[in-house]
Amino acid sequence: MKILVVEDEPKLALFIEKGLKEQNYQVDIAYDGESGKKLALQRSYDCIVLDLILPNCSGLEVCLAVRKEDSTVPIIMLTALGSTEDKVLGLDSGADDYLTKPFKLSELLARIRALARRKNKPVDEAKLSMGGLELDTSTKSAKRDGKSIVLTSREYFLLEFLLKNQGRVLSRAEIAQNVWDISFDSGTNVVDVYVNYLRNKVDKGFSSKFIHTVFGMGYILKEE
Ligand code: CA
Repeated sequence: MKILVVEDEPKLALFIEKGLKEQNYQVDIAYDGESGKKLALQRSYDCIVLDLILPNCSGLEVCLAVRKEDSTVPIIMLTALGSTEDKVLGLDSGADDYLTKPFKLSELLARIRALARRKNKPVDEAKLSMGGLELDTSTKSAKRDGKSIVLTSREYFLLEFLLKNQGRVLSRAEIAQNVWDISFDSGTNVVDVYVNYLRNKVDKGFSSKFIHTVFGMGYILKEE
């Protein structure tokens, strides 16, 4: 689980970060609205914890911008103001939940878990993802860290197969059968050729690689 925290009070931001990291969540922090918006649009998160009143760009603006691009990431709005009006405004701008300061960390964690459960329900079944890599099986499109990756149909099916089996070593025979519907013949190197094509599109230019060769066995898609 990767979580973005947008909060301008350093003490509170660090407190939240510490609490989330203790739960083994990965955390990015932004201390103002503008950089929060940038991160939210560039990377893919499982949840965004967003303060309402921020320098540069308000939480509402961040929320609206994120919703314009990505309708599914759960957003929890934080605010010191507890009036119903603010709450309605926050929810109208696309936030999924609302927490009034001061709050208990356990309360925030419970809300995050609840939203993550909701996020992983059917609405999102069309999406396969790992790290910053996302595949939308309904539009047949792929993204890494928010940037589109243009794939041929065969590359697409190969990536879909790898993502569905992420973390598992796949033999060339298994890949050939599932992606090409052919039985693997050791005379062909089609699998290796396409894995290389995919590497060039998915991993090239990124510091962390997702597609790994397992010597003598095949390939595995996993985070380093
Ligand atoms: Ca604030």
